[in-house]
Parts: sequence; structure tokens; C-alpha cells
Amino acid sequence: MKIRIDKASCVGNARCAAVSAELFPLNEDGYIAVEEIDVPEGMEALARRGARACPERIIVVVEE
Ligand code: SF4
Repeated sequence: MKIRIDKASCVGNARCAAVSAELFPLNEDGYIAVEEIDVPEGMEALARRGARACPERIIVVVEE
């Protein structure tokens, strides 16, 4: 599973990082720091929760 994020559209409210700071690292300004993440085994549920938590709907879970 991968996560893709439309980084340029991030508004920096950190809802994703509140679900998992490991999966959704923020930069020093509080915006999402990554555009694509390989979800480690066992973290799939957190990845889906983080995607749902984003009010901008810019986090997409890509099932493989
Ligand atoms: S929840 Fe969405 S808008 Fe908020 S910091 Fe994360 S990616 Fe950006």
C-alpha cells in the first residue's frame, strides 16, 4: 500500500500527523513533508485513518 499526497494543497492543520506522526511527517512549518509514502506492514489502518482525517482530502491511499 502507498499513500500519495497533493503536497502543494496542504494547509498545515496537522490532522494527519495527529493520527500518525510516523506515517505523516510534517516539515518545520507544519505542512506535510512527503508526497509519497510506502506504508509499512501493519500500518494500513492508520494510513486509511490519516487519509480520512485530512479535511482537504489530499491524501489518497493506493491499494496494491
Ligand atoms: S491533514 Fe491534510 S491539510 Fe492537514 S497537514 Fe495533513 S495533509 Fe496537510
